[in-house]
Amino acid sequence: MQIKKIKLFQFELPVTNGPYRIASGDVWSLTSTLVKVEAENGLIGWGETCPVGPAYAEAHAKGALAALTELAPNLIGTEALPVPLHRRMDSLLCGHSYAKAAVDIAMHDLWGKSLGVSVSDLLGGALTDKVASYYSIGVVAPDEAARIAAEKVREGFPRLQVKLGARAVDIDIEALRKVWEAIRGTGTTLAADGNRGWTTRDALHVSRECLDIPFIMEQPCNTLEDIRTIRQVCHHPIYLDESGTNLNTAITAAGTGLIDGFGMKVTRIGGLHPMRAFRDVCAARNLPHTCDDAWGGDIIAAACVHIAATVAPEKMDGVWLAASYIDGHYDPTGGVAIKDGHIARPTGVGLGVSPDEAIFGEPVFSV
Ligand SMILES: [Mg+2]
Repeated sequence: MQIKKIKLFQFELPVTNGPYRIASGDVWSLTSTLVKVEAENGLIGWGETCPVGPAYAEAHAKGALAALTELAPNLIGTEALPVPLHRRMDSLLCGHSYAKAAVDIAMHDLWGKSLGVSVSDLLGGALTDKVASYYSIGVVAPDEAARIAAEKVREGFPRLQVKLGARAVDIDIEALRKVWEAIRGTGTTLAADGNRGWTTRDALHVSRECLDIPFIMEQPCNTLEDIRTIRQVCHHPIYLDESGTNLNTAITAAGTGLIDGFGMKVTRIGGLHPMRAFRDVCAARNLPHTCDDAWGGDIIAAACVHIAATVAPEKMDGVWLAASYIDGHYDPTGGVAIKDGHIARPTGVGLGVSPDEAIFGEPVFSV
């Protein structure tokens, strides 16, 4: 089954009750890039990539479109299977994994439809039909963070993440203390996400001041070197997120005991094919991880849930979805939604979501 046509769309996702505030800045609206791949037999697959603004990572919406415009004409005729597709994409463009991921996701959707199976079947088989989600509390005042935390525990979230950084570190410590007071004893777990915003000094200060709070520290500092510096003296488990830029970095971090787990983004690592290898490396090293993405609608959400459903539930730290901050769905009937802090695995073949193409407007590129 060869790729016959590719269309690219860009679609604006305004942040409901924005801004969404993280250490790299305020986010009011995100541009998602969508890929529609048609095979020679007429089957359609959808992919998506949506960086959370230009300052969060080495990825941005205009870059995604430029990379995909470079790739698309030369993907016509390529076999819609992961190994030949990734080999072809890597021969055409170095890096830009977050753009290639959108094609990878569309190809998995297409492949699943052609075989009459779900994407989680393609990835080895689902262990569950319902995956845990987690909620991110943005960088807000400590009392407000505690209020949101209590509300999200009541809604059923098994895990909360508090965004920190880009302000006085003592306010971050106060926020962690107040959130912990609000959720302690509920069974809901806690992640303190610095989003690269702390110095090693600040990260160690937070850890020392919060010895009694059992959070994991997610990407506290900017670089792998920073994390290596604090690793042996930090009292809290450390997860890698933004610095896990590709499979090689993730394997090295896992293999050298640099970290205790990962916040992993499907598009950052290059799509579901490398994500599957990442999942298996983590299983071999007994490391927990998330399966999520920086932002995006139903297509990226479905991709995250399908891979997450194939991870041993005790090691799956949750699927974060931007759905909490987005009005409406691409798929008017089968949209991916969080209910009681969990997400049902989409049913049906491929990704199990059928976007209403009309809402995306005219394609910005087609071949
Ligand atoms: Mg994170």
